[in-house]
Amino acid sequence: MSASLPVAAVLDRVDADLNASVERLFELLRIPSVSTDPAYTPHVGRAAQWMVDTLAEIGFEGSVRPTAGHPMVVAHHPGPGKAVPHLLYYGHYDVQPPDPVELWDSGPFEPVLVDAEHGKRIVARGAVDDKGQVMTWVEAFRAWHAVHGTLPCRVTVMLEGEEETGSPSLDAFVRDNADELRADACIVCDTGMWSVDQPAITYSLRGLVYLEVTIAGPNRDLHSGLFGGQVINPLNLMARILGELHDADGRVQIPDFYDEVMPVGANERAQWDALGFDEAASLASVGLQVPGGERGYGALERQWARPTCDVNGLLGGYTEAGSKTVIAREAMAKISCRLVPDQDPRAVMDSLKAFVSDRLPKGYTARFVELGTAPAIRVPTDSPYLRAAQRGLETVFGKTPYLIGSGGSIPAVGSIKRILGMKSILLGFGLDDDRVHSPNEKFELVCFHNGIRSQAAVLAEMARIAG
Ligand SMILES: [Zn+2]
Repeated sequence: MSASLPVAAVLDRVDADLNASVERLFELLRIPSVSTDPAYTPHVGRAAQWMVDTLAEIGFEGSVRPTAGHPMVVAHHPGPGKAVPHLLYYGHYDVQPPDPVELWDSGPFEPVLVDAEHGKRIVARGAVDDKGQVMTWVEAFRAWHAVHGTLPCRVTVMLEGEEETGSPSLDAFVRDNADELRADACIVCDTGMWSVDQPAITYSLRGLVYLEVTIAGPNRDLHSGLFGGQVINPLNLMARILGELHDADGRVQIPDFYDEVMPVGANERAQWDALGFDEAASLASVGLQVPGGERGYGALERQWARPTCDVNGLLGGYTEAGSKTVIAREAMAKISCRLVPDQDPRAVMDSLKAFVSDRLPKGYTARFVELGTAPAIRVPTDSPYLRAAQRGLETVFGKTPYLIGSGGSIPAVGSIKRILGMKSILLGFGLDDDRVHSPNEKFELVCFHNGIRSQAAVLAEMARIAG
């Protein structure tokens, strides 16, 4: 453990510079980098260039890199020039559309500070997802650069402009630039804290299988008076098949679905129980009282460690005003499964298709469109990088961060693992009520501030890992 650069002065610098940090984040938030709508494409490019310019101010050499879709930003900092860990930071600079705009209390791309229960909060599209989170580490880099003239680790940055549209160019880009991007560990900031004063590191993410199914039967729409009772209605058939996806205890009935599911260990369950998750309050926050999911498992286990299957969309027949007595020739459903270790997305996709096909009467067909697969991720909790992140958070918060799971998926984490063979540390500062993807998206100022401090402290701890 050679003389590493001290962090205390860096943290002081973060505190002294907070107003300017907010102003720089506001500049980025004013760029409407909505990736899904072609009308915003010039702004997406502008946001990418803004990131390159900003990183150049603090010692990075980077560029806007074209892909088949929106560009990537890649930038490198050599670090202090001795044997130190090399870290890859991943985030995204694109945002969701602001709609419905009329439900915002202020302009979605006119960031403001608003007084609320935890002090000031930053309100704008992208405040927390993901511009605010990205800027926690950019501002930490800036403070290190200001105090020590360098960073304590070698750093590579990769920022994506298509995260909100499903990362279509990511795999190809990572594959084509693997040698440039490969590092010792990856830091991903798109996750949350347990609460405003309790930091957390996310160590498991669920995977995903997404399938669109169209069942077709008769060769045309039929009169329900003339043909009702004579034919099998594709919509009724679809409803019956979807109904069979779960048994009365909420267990998914797709064949072999649970074969590879890793059971939760006693230690892990005890650790989750100790978090004191309030299921009733969580349900109440969305206006509900009765839980769903598999019977016999705790709320956090159902959310983090059990796979699920949900219908995300249904279409078919007559859906306009009034009545039309029709038996439609087709019915469509969008079905997704959230996966856990060690389920194989390919195998689940194939079983799900077979589950539907096996239930079709003669003469009925199913068309399938695969809309995505991603495996679940679990980061070993004994990794030196994860422990360094824990120590960094302890420096700032004075308490041990919780190790938590997430029911969601981050495709980039899977790509980075699969293509680069690297593990990710999921370090984020969002809160559950940040209204991600919704009107009045916000990031608590205290979370932004503690996020910058934490990123600065985590860098210092990472630098102490023997290279
Ligand atoms: Zn998002």
